[in-house]
Amino acid sequence: MVAEKNLLAYKCKKCGEVHYPFRMRCKKCGNLKQFEFDTVPLPKNGKIVTFTYVYALPGDFEVPKMGLAIVELENGMKVTGQLKAEDPKIGMKVKGKIEIVREEGFDNRYGIVFY
Ligand SMILES: [Zn+2]
Repeated sequence: MVAEKNLLAYKCKKCGEVHYPFRMRCKKCGNLKQFEFDTVPLPKNGKIVTFTYVYALPGDFEVPKMGLAIVELENGMKVTGQLKAEDPKIGMKVKGKIEIVREEGFDNRYGIVFY
């Protein structure tokens, strides 16, 4: 069993602003020091703000289309992730899971997938 991965956000040590995904510079106070962020887990569930399907995917994706959604998490933050919910609707509640979203050789990329 693999422990369930957390969705991590980056909290500015200077002003406390939380960012996801990682940014080099704090969008609130402009803090540019690279290691001045703490990692904090985010809630993984939320509701769909908007979504779309992408059909023109790079050749290494073995699916005909991929859903992408902007989801407002339970703490009010908005994140972009893959959408695998059946028959999605705006405002619908979804559950996030951290999964491999792309395999590049031996380098697996993890991201959030909403169901
Ligand atoms: Zn800051």
